[in-house]
Amino acid sequence: MQQEFPPLDPVLARGERLARVRDRMRELGVDALLLSLGADLPWLTGYEAMPLERITMLVLPADDEATLVVPLLEAPRVVQDRRLFSLRSWKDSEDPIRIIEDLVGSRRQLAVSDRCWAAHLLSIQQALPSGVFRPASEVTSALRAVKDATEIAAVRAAGAAADRVAEALLRGEIALVGRSEASVSAEISRRLLAEGNAKVNFAIVGSGPNSASPHHEPGERVIGPGEPVVCDFGGALHLGGDTVGYCSDITRTVVTGEPPADFRALYDVLEAAQSRAVTTARIGTPCEAVDAAGRDPITEAGYGEAFIHRIGHGIGIEEHEDPYLVAGNRQLLEAGHAFSIEPGIYLAGRFGARIEDIVVATDDGPLACNSADHSLHIVEA
Ligand code: ZN
Ligand code: ZN
Ligand code: ZN
Repeated sequence: MQQEFPPLDPVLARGERLARVRDRMRELGVDALLLSLGADLPWLTGYEAMPLERITMLVLPADDEATLVVPLLEAPRVVQDRRLFSLRSWKDSEDPIRIIEDLVGSRRQLAVSDRCWAAHLLSIQQALPSGVFRPASEVTSALRAVKDATEIAAVRAAGAAADRVAEALLRGEIALVGRSEASVSAEISRRLLAEGNAKVNFAIVGSGPNSASPHHEPGERVIGPGEPVVCDFGGALHLGGDTVGYCSDITRTVVTGEPPADFRALYDVLEAAQSRAVTTARIGTPCEAVDAAGRDPITEAGYGEAFIHRIGHGIGIEEHEDPYLVAGNRQLLEAGHAFSIEPGIYLAGRFGARIEDIVVATDDGPLACNSADHSLHIVEA
């Protein structure tokens, strides 16, 4: 496919995103976008606001140039290309809300970052009493869900790095038996960093009965022989040294020796369900149909009650973002949607398993960003 060798020019890509956002603002009648914390700001500018008490805010009018209002002491971090926005740094002796107020001017229809701190938003609302506010996601979310070629390359590179860690796990290179979940989690995290991630977002390790807890917090439990171990991990990778990282998210379940009775049968159902769901993740398929494609075989095998979450979530700059693959979401998959497909079967108090890959919907069908083997690996360590 053509997206194999994208023109990796982030400034160009961000300029195109800005143009799409301005179009959408005009469609929705939004006069200015006010972006603070969260993924919209780095998606559009390459700069991520620091989550501190001093406000950072991009004021992006539909009809004028964008201005990034940033604390003076953070201004040296703004290394991004100034064709995308101009900079207005503020000193501690200044009132940044005044500056934002001036930049907004008489514009009334305003869309604010979903993650903007309440304290900042309340001050802005007080300064702009005639403003009509809505969440920025109404403008950005559907656009940000469709990854451009630059982003697909980044998501694929992140997936490949996560794959290398998963393959080490499947080969038995990561010792399990006799170690605590927390220690294995720390090793997975170290390996994610060694594979080029700038940071680790999470490294779930759930062993034995804990494998039945999807978001288990790895703890001091020591892994024994003959136990399923669910490992779900991901980081953020900055492809080509770009200022914005894209996320990985992969789950593989292994067993330490001969698995408990019934586990193989459960795993076979899960593996078939996961690949069935991936196959259906084509352009034009409703998100909920992908969930159903993975859920139906699990239900038919009698494990329906044990699959306790949606089958997947979008991924990009954020670990979880639109589109969500869940019953009730009739949104159709589009080329460039990137998302997880991660069915799980959890038998409380006994054991569980999950298999997760990141997939991109493309003109040529579903493109898996993870290739680590799905078959049940017995790792004796
Ligand atoms: Zn999760
Ligand atoms: Zn995951
Ligand atoms: Zn996930």
